[in-house]
This record gives sequence, C-alpha cells and structure tokens, in this order.
Amino acid sequence: MASNGYRNGTGTNKGAIKPPASSNIRSSSFKSRLPPSSNHSPGSALRRTSSASFTTAAGGDGVPGRVRVAVRLRPRNAEESTADADFADCVELQPELKRLKLRKNNWESETYEFDEVLTEFASQKRVYEVVAKPVVESVLDGYNGTVMAYGQTGTGKTFTLGRLGEEDTSARGIMVRSMEEILVNVSRETDSISVSYLQLYMETIQDLLDPANDNISIVEDPRTGDVSLPGATHVEIKDEQSFLELLRLGEAHRIAANTKLNTESSRSHAILMVHVKRSVLGEEVAIPTESDKSSHFVKPPKPLVRKSKLVLVDLAGSERVQKSGSEGHMLEEAKSINLSLSALGKCINALAENSAHVPIRDSKLTRLLRDSFGGTARTSLIVTIGPSPRHRGETASTILFGQRVENMLRIKEEFDYKSLARRLEIQLDKLIAENERQQKAFDDEVERINLEAQNRVSEVERNFTDALEKERLKCQMEYMESVKKLEEKMIENQQKHQHDGFMKDKCNGEGPGFCEDIAVIKKLLEKETHMRKEAEKEVNKLKSQLGQHMDAGAGGDAEILKLQIALEDEVHQKKKLEEEIIILRSQMLQLTFEADQMRRCLARGGSGNAYPGLDSPMSQVRDSLSGHKTPVSALFDQVGVEKILDLLESEDANVRIHAVKVVANLAAEEANQERIVEAGGLTSLLMLLRSYEDETVRRVAAGAIANLAMNEANQELIMVQGGISLLSTTASDAEDPQTLRMVAGAIANLCGNDKLQATLRSEGGIKALLGMVRCRHPDVLSQVARGIANFAKCESRASTNGNGLHIALVLLQVYEAGDHFLSMKVHFHGLCKMLTMMLHLLGDTLSSHCVIWHSMKQMQRT
Ligand code: ADP
Ligand code: MG
Repeated sequence: MASNGYRNGTGTNKGAIKPPASSNIRSSSFKSRLPPSSNHSPGSALRRTSSASFTTAAGGDGVPGRVRVAVRLRPRNAEESTADADFADCVELQPELKRLKLRKNNWESETYEFDEVLTEFASQKRVYEVVAKPVVESVLDGYNGTVMAYGQTGTGKTFTLGRLGEEDTSARGIMVRSMEEILVNVSRETDSISVSYLQLYMETIQDLLDPANDNISIVEDPRTGDVSLPGATHVEIKDEQSFLELLRLGEAHRIAANTKLNTESSRSHAILMVHVKRSVLGEEVAIPTESDKSSHFVKPPKPLVRKSKLVLVDLAGSERVQKSGSEGHMLEEAKSINLSLSALGKCINALAENSAHVPIRDSKLTRLLRDSFGGTARTSLIVTIGPSPRHRGETASTILFGQRVENMLRIKEEFDYKSLARRLEIQLDKLIAENERQQKAFDDEVERINLEAQNRVSEVERNFTDALEKERLKCQMEYMESVKKLEEKMIENQQKHQHDGFMKDKCNGEGPGFCEDIAVIKKLLEKETHMRKEAEKEVNKLKSQLGQHMDAGAGGDAEILKLQIALEDEVHQKKKLEEEIIILRSQMLQLTFEADQMRRCLARGGSGNAYPGLDSPMSQVRDSLSGHKTPVSALFDQVGVEKILDLLESEDANVRIHAVKVVANLAAEEANQERIVEAGGLTSLLMLLRSYEDETVRRVAAGAIANLAMNEANQELIMVQGGISLLSTTASDAEDPQTLRMVAGAIANLCGNDKLQATLRSEGGIKALLGMVRCRHPDVLSQVARGIANFAKCESRASTNGNGLHIALVLLQVYEAGDHFLSMKVHFHGLCKMLTMMLHLLGDTLSSHCVIWHSMKQMQRT
C-alpha cells in the first residue's frame, strides 16, 4: 500500500509540468517527544526517547514532502477566565525554543517540540506567514499543497482558517490571506484560479457551493494518481471580493446543511480547494533530425499550462475520535461520520511506523488528499489547543496527533521516471552548453595571459639586447682608443730607437732587452686582439642564442640568467682588458724611461743607469728645472700612480718587474715622490723587499726606496714602517753588488737624518751598513762610506759641546769597520778615502787622529 499511497502530483495532468521532485524521501523525524523528567522538578533537562535524529524546524522550511506542524493556543474565553480563574493553563509555551510543556500536575510536565509554537497573542498575520505562506508560495510554483487545522472543537480551527475579517481586516484567516497572495501573484490575462468548497460528513461529499449536489464522487487517475471531483462546482475567482462572497455562501450552505442533517458543523470537515492554472514558457527542446543525427534544430518554446492545487481543510473536532466507541450513537458516528479523521490518524500512524499497509482507501478524506499530501506536495498542519486544564486529556491527544505527523516524512515518493529523464536530459544539455561557454572563456583567458607573458618576455629581451649592445660598443670603443694610443706611443718609441740605433749596441746590454720588451708588448697586443676577437665571437654567440630563445618563446628566465652571466663575463673580460692596457702603458712608461736614460747616457758617454739619483742626485733637479713636463711625467699622469702601484701585486712576474722599474724611475724625480708615498708606494716597495723572490725586483725596489729616502719626510716614514730592519736583512742576504749598492745608498741617506741616529744604531742599521763592505765592490763601498760620513756628521752635530763620548762611539764603530775592512783585504785606497772624509767631517780632534792613526797602523800591519 505504501507504494501507491499518497502519490503526489508528478506530471499527472495533461500538459502540466511539475517542478523537480525532492531528491529523496526524508525519513528522519525532526521532532521528538520529550518524556517527563524522572525527578520532581518540572521542566528539568530535556531528554529525547526517540533514536531518530533531530532537525531544527528551520531546516525543513519549504521542503516538499515535509509536513510542518505548528501548535496554536487559543486565549482563555470569558467562561474559562471565570471557571479556571484559580488554575493555571494546562500548557506552558516556550515560543523562542519552539517548545510546549504539557502539565501533568503541579510538578510534572512533558515537553514537545514543534516547527512553530504560536501563543495566545500570535496575530492572524503571523499565523498565516509561518503556517500557510510557504505552502501558498509552493502552489504558485506549481506544487500541490495542503493546510489542515486539527483540534478539539472550540479551540480555533475555523478562527484560524476561515475568518473572513470583514469588519476587521487584521482578523482575516488563512483562506482569505492565501487567496489574496495568489491573486497578487498570478496574471489575470493568462492564468486562472477556480475554487470548489466542499463538506465531508459521514463519508459523503457535499458541494457547499451547490447544496443540491450532495453526493460527489472522487475520481482517481490510476496512472498518475491525480485526484479530481468532476461533480463539484468550480467557480472562477477574479478578485478577492468574489472569493469572500463565495466563502460566505459556502458557510451559509454549511449551516443550512447541518441544520437539515441535524448535526453540528464541528462534526464535518470543510474543504476548500483552490485550483491554480498558470501559463509558463516551456524549455527549448533540441531534437536530432533524421538526415543528420549530429545536427539539431531547436523547437521554439511552447507555452504550457502548469496546474497546482491548494487544499485548505478545517477538520472536524478531534474530540470525536477520542470519544468514539463509548456508546451507541456515538459509536455509529465515530464509524461513519468521522471515519475520515480516524483514517487520517491511522494513515499518519501507519506512515509513522513505516507500515507496509497505509489505509489510504479507508476514507474519503485520505483519498481526497492523496495528491496533495506528502511527496512533492507541501503540507502544513496547525494544531489548535485550548488553555483549560479541564480539557487536558483532549489537549494531550491533540498534541500527540501533531507529534505523529512528523513521521509523514516516511511517505514513499514515486517518480515519474519518464518526465524526470526528460528533465534531466534538458538539464544535461544546459550544463553541456554552459560548460562549453566556460571552456571557451577559459581558453580565451589563457590565450590572453599567454600573449601578455610573451609580450613581456620580448620586451625584457629587447631591453637586455639593447643594453648588451651598448655595453659591447662602449668596450670596443675604449679598447680601440687604447690600442690606438699604444700604437702611437710605440711608433714614437720605435722612431727614437731607430735614431739612437747605432749607439744602442754599444750600450751595456740594455739594447737587446729593450727590443725584447717591445716584442713582449707586441705579443701582448696580439693577445689582446685575439681576446677581443674571442669576446666578439662570444657576443655573436650570445646574440644567436638570444635569437633562438626568442623563437622558442619559453624558458625566458633561464635564458636571461644565462645572458646575464655572459654579460658578467663580458664585464670581467673588459676589466681584464683595461688592466692589460694599464700594464701596457706602464711598460710603455718604463720603456720611455729607459730610452730617456739611454739618451742621457749617450749624451754623457757614460754607462746607462736605470735609476738615477744615487750617483747624481742633481740630475733630477736638472730635469725638474727644465720647466715643462717630460714625456715620462705626461705618461705617468695618463696612467696614474695608483694603477701602477696595483701592478706591483700583479700575478705576472714580468708585469711586476716592469711596474717596480717604473716606480723606481718615478721615485727618482722629486716631483713624483710625494704622490708615490701618498698612494702607498713606499709601503708597497717595502713589501717587495720583505717578500723577496726575484733579485731584479729586490734590486729595483731597494733603488726606489733609496731614491725616496733622499727626502727627509720619507726617511722617518721608512723608519716607522720598519724599513731599517728590512734593509738590514736585505743587506745581509743579498749577494748582488747592485742590490747592495741600492741598500747601502738607502741606509746612507737615512744616516743623514739627525733624528734617526739613535734608532739607526739600535736597530742595527749602522752594523748592516758596515757589513756590506764584504762585497768589496767599489760602488758599494762608496755608498757605505757616504753613509758612515753622514752618520758621523750627525753625531758630531749632536756633540757640539765637545761630548767626546759620541764621537768616540762613532770612531769606535769606524775603527771596527776599519778592522773589518782590513780583514777583508779591502782596497787600501778606498779606506783612505773614507778616513779622509771622516777627518774632514769630524774636524781635527785629538781622538780622531788617534783613531785614524790606529787604523793606519792596523792597515800597515797587513
Ligand atoms: P473551532 O472551529 O475549533 O471549533 P472556533 O474557531 O469556532 O473553534 O473558535 C471558537 C471560539 O473561540 C470562537 O468564538 C472564536 O472567535 C474564538 N477563538 C478561537 N481562537 C481564537 C483566538 N486565537 N483568539 C481569539 N479568539 C479565538
Ligand atoms: Mg469550527
């Protein structure tokens, strides 16, 4: 029975379209009876006995198949106010919790939950809105719907449903308000509303609009389950007024009929049926043609009529069910008059228990409601109760009836699978079209983003290429310029050399060295050219890579990174080239020095000496006095002292040698000394002495220091920077007479400084100076002698007051040196020369005579 019971309008009427059914049958109960608390405190904590899940009422709003149950309490009437004045109401409402407490006695109560709990103060408007409005709206949407009022006689069923509110519009009941809402929402032109008003009494259906029509039969379409009453009067409703007239007429007929039947209206059910027919546009239906299965033509939308039905039932008084079977007449009445109500209750029970047999055919009421109750239909039940404690039993049974309705949700729903399939097909088509639209939009977006990205990448690439090209051009220009300058210088030098050509070979081996240098420079130039070509090649390679990259259009970042690295390489290369240029320039400087030197030497006819100053301190003065810049100093300005000093630390030994030569040559000119020292040249030269590795470097460095040591300010600096101990070490290490000559020259210069005497002595400077006579080379000896002479001169100045001690000390040292000279079998003439100088410096004192005499004696001994 469950399978064919309560079928609810699914595509049943001809041409009618029903909206989609709810997805499934809701079987869980959403309200549960709450048992009285076991202790004696009324209203204590709630406990649910049902295992069914609890759903809030709000969750069920407007859900088809869901029976919403509201309870409404009538206010006390005059009689109750007096009679029950000393008693509390049998119920206590908690509207905010949607709960109702039914008092058992003064200390015990049972709590129930409903979808809505309407107090005695609830307005008719509010009652309509929470109970009937959702149903009416769903009827307007094409669903069937039912609103029923159930309760004991006199609790307000008719008040709730049927009040006309003619004098006071706020008193209008659900029937009038529903019609108002329907009228507002339908189109007068295309839609139609018709009404039937019936009474069901003793299983007979009477037409309240045509009392003569007193035995109307119910027709059920066995296929669709649709219920119709072909015999009933259907009155078209155009406005509210005509509807009110109709209700009035129906009410009058109801009273008349009940008088005729000698019964009360409370023993019959009043049923108002509102049929709504609305014109709606159908869906566009695409159907395949015969010739081409893939192509579709679209049928234009066809206007369709959507039918729905609102059934409003003012049920007979519920007390009749409870009291049935008590005695003769009442038993009959229960069996026949109120069969429908008890059948409704049974159906509800059967459905609540999920029984296989739902006695839907047992009564006319259940048969009548078959297509408007449960399933896709929306149903509201308003349970009306009175407050009187005297009717507590009736009230309790009414409440329990309402509670059972929750299980109506178990009603099985039958689908019209054919129409469902068609609807689903249409929906599927829609979704496919939508999906296609979205896919297209997505593809467009992807394309747009792609294009944007490509544009950005090519812009970055363009910028990068421009920058690269600029940098390359700059490098090339600079490079060309330097090469040009170098070539010019070289040509100049070559011309000079050709001029001095025949003399060159006579010189002491400097000539071939010079040619070698030029060859080295040429080689370097070739190397440079080669490197430049390599760099150009690299740039071209990068360009072609860039082109490839542009073609590929992807992996832009990686390529840019590569190019950046290449650019860095280029910059590095450029730096290297610049360094090489400096080196070449410094070499050029050196060559210029040497050529200059040679020229001077040729002019003098003497031997070439790369480092003037020691022998001829005046030469520099002469040069500087000439008033204008020599080509050397011009070149020096061009290259810059710092860059030359940097070359002292070059990794290339050749470069280092050239650099130190240049520095030494520059140091020979007083004008350059300050600049060299300021740029840290002195420190660098001392470093070279310290980290000796090449005799030439050491010799030249010592020469440069000697030149710098001619300047008094530098002398102190040399001392401060530990120069004396470095020079002393070199003095004892070195074997090369030219190195020793330079070292001796440097110390000799320091010996001329009054302030440094004590330090020179204490740090072993004098001892080192004297130690160098072991070399016996006249150049060295002359420097030693110069140094001793300087030293002695200072000492004598320090002891102008005749402090013999100082002089004695010096002389003692000289004496020791003399001894040493002798032991080394030094040339007698050299020593004599020195002693004569000493004598001249020290003056004709007794002690000096003594010492000299002593020395002479020593020499004579050998
Ligand atoms: P029923 O139809 O259930 O037998 P009625 O609707 O005839 O009951 O109501 C009985 C009486 O109570 C009426 O006089 C009615 O006006 C009054 N009444 C019912 N409900 C209310 C209410 N909510 N507020 C005021 N009066 C009410
Ligand atoms: Mg009534």
